[in-house]
Amino acid sequence: MGRFTLSRRIQALPPYLFAELDRKKQEVRSKGMDIIDLGVGDPDHPTPDFIVDAMKREAEVPANHQYPSYEGLPEFRAAAARWYKERFGVALDPGNEVVALIGSKEGIAHFPLAFVDPGDVVLVPDPGYPVYHIATMFSGGKSHFMPLLRENGFLPRLDRIPGGVLAKAKILFLNYPNNPTSAIADRKFYRNVLAFAEEHDLIVAHDVAYTEIYFDGVKPMSILELPGAKKRCIEFHSLSKTYNMTGWRIGFAVGNTELVGGLGKVKTNVDSGVFQAVQGAAIAALGSGESATREIRRTYQERRDVLLPGLRALGLDPVTPAATFYVWIPVPEGYTSASFCTHLLTKAGIVTTPGNGFGKSGEGYIRIALTKEKERIREALDRMRRIGF
Ligand SMILES: *Cc1c(COP(=O)(O)O)cnc(C)c1O
Repeated sequence: MGRFTLSRRIQALPPYLFAELDRKKQEVRSKGMDIIDLGVGDPDHPTPDFIVDAMKREAEVPANHQYPSYEGLPEFRAAAARWYKERFGVALDPGNEVVALIGSKEGIAHFPLAFVDPGDVVLVPDPGYPVYHIATMFSGGKSHFMPLLRENGFLPRLDRIPGGVLAKAKILFLNYPNNPTSAIADRKFYRNVLAFAEEHDLIVAHDVAYTEIYFDGVKPMSILELPGAKKRCIEFHSLSKTYNMTGWRIGFAVGNTELVGGLGKVKTNVDSGVFQAVQGAAIAALGSGESATREIRRTYQERRDVLLPGLRALGLDPVTPAATFYVWIPVPEGYTSASFCTHLLTKAGIVTTPGNGFGKSGEGYIRIALTKEKERIREALDRMRRIGF
């Protein structure tokens, strides 16, 4: 026991499921074993040079050394709006339908504070990015988990949400392309979502961090492409995955004016915006068309196309990713998520992520990130073949 009692909200945080795995990773490393880390969802390639060069120039401008504007530079918000128009055909008013974020995680984490009161319910995908649930808890709300199952294409069955839950529900969180399942959603699903949200008066908060990491030329869509979506939707976008910029901390939220404004109200009282030089670099990135993203997609597609047939040859049945840089794999007979991860780590030095870390419905799966070179992925497959399961 420490001298200071942690707040109830911190005490109520879910247990950190990776502690045991982290300990084993240290142990394996200290034995001198070569580790292939396919655990983290962090691009291994650097940010493209033209973005770094823009940052260097912007860093020398004295005006950028002062406090930024809360909602983001008008030029940055205009660049985000232009990008949405080009990529999705969605028109946005940079004046009140776009706000800059310190990475989309920041925006997602603060969003429920603007719209959720104690007693309100938030609909959260399971498995899912942990921030939706934690942010709900921090705002005093209660999560209702929606299972994402393979037999449903990893889309939630909205018709299975109990009426009593819906009566108290305020926000529906969605994330397509999806981390960790790699699924994408189609127009028909989004149409259903919108009708459902109308019927039950829900806010739709869509996390779209992976729209540019897609395969086989099939582009994921924005829910804002649907007529009327702006009435109750907000989308959280990020430059992190699109341009290998996880360390830069910049993203943006777009959509309904009141939703963007509510989030902005939380932010003006918590942070003071994004370093303007970073916004300048982000303007260069967003204005670069497809040239940078095409190269990034090609890299992940090559790796995916090495890993998938290799896993199948080993008798596994991975989900074929339509997008994202993750492969979601059911564990073999006789294993749990944790025991299979431990097997791969201790016997083969391969780090993967246990699916149950993303929620109850992730049990029975592991996630492999395509964030290492092809040669290392081949090496991992060789090692798996040698150890067997
Ligand atoms: C990586 C990721 C994000 C983006 O995080 P940033 O804060 O923008 O770096 C958001 N949602 C999901 C599901 C992610 O995997």
